[in-house]
Amino acid sequence: MYDVVVVGAGIEGSATAYNLAKNGQKTLLLEQFPLPHSRGSSHGQSRITRVAYGKDDHYAVMMKEGGKLWRSMERESGTSIFLNCGCLAVGKPDFHFIKGTIASLSRHCIKHDILTPGDLRDRYPMLSLPPDYVGVFDYSGGVLRADKALRAFQTLFVKYGGELRDGEEVTGILPGSEVTIVTSQGEYRARKVVLTLGPWAPKFLPKLGINLPLKTVLTLVLYWKEKNKGEFSADRFPTYKNVRENVEVYALPSLEYPGHVRVCYHDGPETDPDSRDMADTGRILSTMKSYVREHLPSLQDTPSIVEPCMYTNTPDLQFVLDRHPSHRNIILGVGFSGHGFKLAPVVGKILCELAMDKTPSYDLTPCRVDRFFNPKARM
Ligand SMILES: Cc1cc2nc3c(=O)[nH]c(=O)nc-3n(C[C@H](O)[C@H](O)[C@H](O)COP(=O)(O)OP(=O)(O)OC[C@H]3O[C@@H](n4cnc5c(N)ncnc54)[C@H](O)[C@@H]3O)c2cc1C
Repeated sequence: MYDVVVVGAGIEGSATAYNLAKNGQKTLLLEQFPLPHSRGSSHGQSRITRVAYGKDDHYAVMMKEGGKLWRSMERESGTSIFLNCGCLAVGKPDFHFIKGTIASLSRHCIKHDILTPGDLRDRYPMLSLPPDYVGVFDYSGGVLRADKALRAFQTLFVKYGGELRDGEEVTGILPGSEVTIVTSQGEYRARKVVLTLGPWAPKFLPKLGINLPLKTVLTLVLYWKEKNKGEFSADRFPTYKNVRENVEVYALPSLEYPGHVRVCYHDGPETDPDSRDMADTGRILSTMKSYVREHLPSLQDTPSIVEPCMYTNTPDLQFVLDRHPSHRNIILGVGFSGHGFKLAPVVGKILCELAMDKTPSYDLTPCRVDRFFNPKARM
């Protein structure tokens, strides 16, 4: 009998399992694929992190602790995870993303620069932006080394006595005061279960009588070759976000593949996680080719490397961090909507608190299940 079984060893499940084992819980972490794998949402070498969160201030509040937890994970694991190269947001000065970013940084006293169109041209000659664009440089932002972070959580989980079984799919869950977890290889019993299923949540949760409005989408990680080698190195080009009506583009400095810069479209077509690559990505590619040609002319305008990944989106793009409405010892950590990596240490702490029947450290109202069925629940 386990205290807790965590299903899904992506970044959210691994961070949760780590917290549980560290808190003395007898914990089993189950993963359907042999690890490491590239079939979910947490693979790859890098993710953007930043504190500013526009109108969703609850995430900015969480990120203030998130930054500290990443630093402490670096110390505990002896791994370098965070590269503090900053985050540049660009856009029209009156656009909500720019106004919200400035407000969030000011509210949380995060060091930042507001850049005029001229400043942008001087500091970032590799960008070709509309003449009315301004920039906000957030000194707290940067890159998280995703693969190293994932491995660090899993390694420390095992070090704290946790049991990790990969290549073992959970095929069924029988609720009760003690939960039975049925897998491709056997059965386990636990007092609590945490489901961190990533893109498989919309397929799996109906088996437990819960239909959340989750949408799994295919997104492409695109790498574009520099025309002038070194122009986008992390000491010259920070992480980058351009949010405008209907298009959100982000970029990271040249880190993963020498001479290549990651520039991506933050969305994609709906897909089935078991046949992920069958979705039509023609629109993403054509949008991104135009974007790169227009705004990043010192990159070649056809990507050299294309890697698929998935988001699991909720309609309001808020996470789901809650108990199952009917089975209170089954806890849900799903719907991270393409922005959950940076918050994983905090998510892991919160899901651990729920599994241990502790009061969560944060107000989880925006992340409750009942918001989908009773919109007033968010008020
Ligand atoms: C291309 C890309 C770029 C991103 N960029 C950023 C960024 O810059 N900043 C940021 O904060 N976030 C970013 N994100 C979002 C972030 O990576 C995700 O929110 C996060 O990885 C979600 O993790 P997860 O653990 O929920 O899902 P996953 O990593 O998908 O983990 C779920 C796991 O559950 C397993 N599983 C599912 N069903 C079962 C079952 N029945 N039995 C056993 N195991 C099962 C799956 O195999 C999988 O390993 C990005 C995501 C992508 C795809």
